[in-house]
Amino acid sequence: MLTVKFWGVRGSIPVPGEDTVKIGGNTSCIEIMNDKNELLIIDAGTGIKNLGNHIVSAYLATGMKKCSLILTHTHWDHIQGLPFFTPLYLKDFEIYVYGPARDKDTIENILAGQMNYPYYPVKISDLKAKIFFNDIEEKPFTIGSYQIIPKVLNHPVKTYGYKIFCEGKIITTVYDHEIYRNVVLEDNPMIMNDLKIGGEEVLEASKEVSRRNQEIVDFIRDSNILIYDAFCTEKEYYDGKQGWGHGPIEFLIENTKHAPVRNLVLFHHAPEKKDKDVLKMKKYLENFVKSLDYKVNLIIAKEGLKIKL
Ligand SMILES: [Zn+2]
Ligand SMILES: [Zn+2]
Repeated sequence: MLTVKFWGVRGSIPVPGEDTVKIGGNTSCIEIMNDKNELLIIDAGTGIKNLGNHIVSAYLATGMKKCSLILTHTHWDHIQGLPFFTPLYLKDFEIYVYGPARDKDTIENILAGQMNYPYYPVKISDLKAKIFFNDIEEKPFTIGSYQIIPKVLNHPVKTYGYKIFCEGKIITTVYDHEIYRNVVLEDNPMIMNDLKIGGEEVLEASKEVSRRNQEIVDFIRDSNILIYDAFCTEKEYYDGKQGWGHGPIEFLIENTKHAPVRNLVLFHHAPEKKDKDVLKMKKYLENFVKSLDYKVNLIIAKEGLKIKL
């Protein structure tokens, strides 16, 4: 059996406090565990601190001596908890880290950057665990019994979605992803009337946009669960969040209808959303999918949520 557990579900910045206790205030961190006791972690937002404590208090006693961490990208909300991940300080523990490199910067260099002297008192080279860094490209790789396909998403730094196969099940992540749009045409629908030269390129770009959105649909096909970017609704998106690399959630959901997806986990909540706002968004989106005549189970990601497959 595969278990997916959410340790951090927030985007951008941790938001502890009485308004976020139900959903949780920690940033992105997801645990996947299989029957062979192979621990796979996706992202090292601040949620990874509590997962690290759990590894020490519960998993070490089962004989676990290693885990793997795959990073979707290196924005702060996905790596900021890493220096506080207790297993890094255990001498006999092995940690396999996978993530996107950037130009000449390896994933190791990028992560070491946030532990430089002005930011953090312990250097990455002083950590006690055996750490193995792996730069990944957009091609399939294997970690133990997990087979993983990365897919580049539309986000302002190299960011991967992951399609993870194990025990006959598929878990897919597509967050920190903005739908591909032809901004010239969609934000100025009358532009074609004015374009004497360049009209063909604009239409050609629209075809490219459709192709890329279709690639995401193909990527998520057959997923048992899809963990999805719920950062902003269409209204919020057009209120100044275009180009931030998220949403809008209605367009993203509409796109999945072609896959289709049965269980869609709404994840990476915006920091300004209080518990009541997230629950309100869920109600609104349930009505939205009904209007599409689309039978999809919408699940709100919150800290502590466990899904068994
Ligand atoms: Zn993020
Ligand atoms: Zn990001």
